[in-house]
Amino acid sequence: MMEESTPTDFVRQMVADDIDSGKWDGRVQTRFPPEPNGYLHIGHAKSICLNFGIAEEFGGKYNLRFDDTNPAKEEQEYVDAIKEDIRWLGFDWEDREFYASDYFEQLYDWAVLLINDGKAFVCDLNGDEMREHRGTVTEAGTESPHRSRSVEENLDLFARMKAGEFPDGSKTLRAKVDMASPNMNLRDPVMYRILTATHHRTGDTWCIHPMYDFTHGESDSIERVTHSICTMEFEDHRPLYDWYLDALGIYHPQQIEFARLNLTYTMMSKRKLLELVEEKQVSGWDDPRMPTICGLRRRGYTPESIRAFCHEIGVTKFNSTTDMAVLENALRADLNKRAERRLAVLNPLKVVIENYPEGESEELDAINNPEDASAGSRTIPFSRELYIERDDFMEDAPRKFFRLSVGKEVRLRYAYFITCTEVIKDDDGNVIELRCTYDPATRGGDAPDGRKVKGTLHWVSAAHAVEAEVRLYDHLFENPDPNDVQEGQTYRDNLNANSLKTLTGCQLEPSLSQATPGDRFQFERRGYFCVDTDSTPQTPVFNRTTPLRDAWAKIQKQKQKGK
Ligand code: ATP
Ligand code: MG
Repeated sequence: MMEESTPTDFVRQMVADDIDSGKWDGRVQTRFPPEPNGYLHIGHAKSICLNFGIAEEFGGKYNLRFDDTNPAKEEQEYVDAIKEDIRWLGFDWEDREFYASDYFEQLYDWAVLLINDGKAFVCDLNGDEMREHRGTVTEAGTESPHRSRSVEENLDLFARMKAGEFPDGSKTLRAKVDMASPNMNLRDPVMYRILTATHHRTGDTWCIHPMYDFTHGESDSIERVTHSICTMEFEDHRPLYDWYLDALGIYHPQQIEFARLNLTYTMMSKRKLLELVEEKQVSGWDDPRMPTICGLRRRGYTPESIRAFCHEIGVTKFNSTTDMAVLENALRADLNKRAERRLAVLNPLKVVIENYPEGESEELDAINNPEDASAGSRTIPFSRELYIERDDFMEDAPRKFFRLSVGKEVRLRYAYFITCTEVIKDDDGNVIELRCTYDPATRGGDAPDGRKVKGTLHWVSAAHAVEAEVRLYDHLFENPDPNDVQEGQTYRDNLNANSLKTLTGCQLEPSLSQATPGDRFQFERRGYFCVDTDSTPQTPVFNRTTPLRDAWAKIQKQKQKGK
């Protein structure tokens, strides 16, 4: 229990107050209630970290509950993926895995109870008619002509709805609340609809299905949830949540709303993410550009970085949009500590060390992680023919270019000082090779005579290198708000055509041939990378998880320097 520390947000404050006052006998019971109609995204991670985090912090319990009330859109595939993602994030709901569909029998009985109490009725209005009767925000609605049906007639019709006597959409069961309520959710909301579709768990047992609002609070009640934490759009539903529980006279949890996560350059709508998948705008739910948990995982995100991010952004009631850079910075902070360093050349340019003996090679020591001494060191081979990064060489270099050009000396990381002596070009004038000399006295990267060089380059030995494909990613959308579009356009018009750039023929240090999907590294000077699930021993495939530093951090740094 964390009784000593100060709650960090209003939800935790409320939970702490409830423990102090003994409101729930000191119990804390939360739940995360995904609808299995898509994969989880980073917004869900915020909700999971909040719901499950609070239960952990206050010595309570948390449930995973699938809110599976809509058989038309739900699938077992999503259930499995959701469980995998939550486990990966580091949470364990033990045996507390529940399904709203397991409560269908109880919900049906409760609906009958409300009919008996004169608080629910069977309505024959179709969707359009119901909308017409609903009124507007400023005008009261009109009562359904079927609102005054007798209890007996309602019981009979509802039983026959259940028995499958009526076609889909022809009747509903509605709560008798108040057609004049300023809160539209209270204008005789639908509790049950007729929907014949095979449910992923209940099969064809039910042709009537309860609506979300009639299911959610009751499920919370059955599970004896204390704090039912949800996002702000349910604030207007809370009176209905309370109405059902009061009308039924059953255990009554407290609903609490918080602001959902929005991130720049991406979107959190499951419906639209599904469209991207179905329209093949991305390779799947786990495309490394997707904001889904499985996409972030494939991209190389760590669960720790996602949890740290969720902690950092905090919890409020104000809807806002968080800069994607905040998520990326949380990732870098974590990877900096844990990712081992490797040398990898993404755009190779050949270098021949003319004074290095042909056919020979040697092993040089390289540190695995300067942030973590326990990561140890490894050796990397050095030989006469190397690759360096193409943009580390310039023919007509400006004065401030500290990398390689003819006549200049640089350090090769962990290796030697080299000096470029000659440029070889093809018939079109493209640089295809550099001739260099090395100074054998500088082994390890330091000159015994104290001579300094400004540039340190990464490199790999050509004969020993592993060839790989590397995928570079940029934001999925060009616009910080993908939904900010011109008349007649959709978010698709904001898709970034350059969000994926595939590099082939990249040259990696040989130790990387051992890497398996999910392994993460820092390629020195190039960023953080991880092995993709498409990777094979023949063709390793790496994703760039994130560059080393983003534009935002650069700006901060310049500000600090007072530039
Ligand atoms: P929809 O209901 O439109 O399919 P949803 O994103 O609300 O989409 P759910 O499966 O109902 O999907 O969400 C499960 C839980 O996650 C809910 O409690 C919801 O409030 C929460 N949640 C969803 N999106 C976000 C978000 N962007 N930030 C924080 N919490 C979220
Ligand atoms: Mg929802």
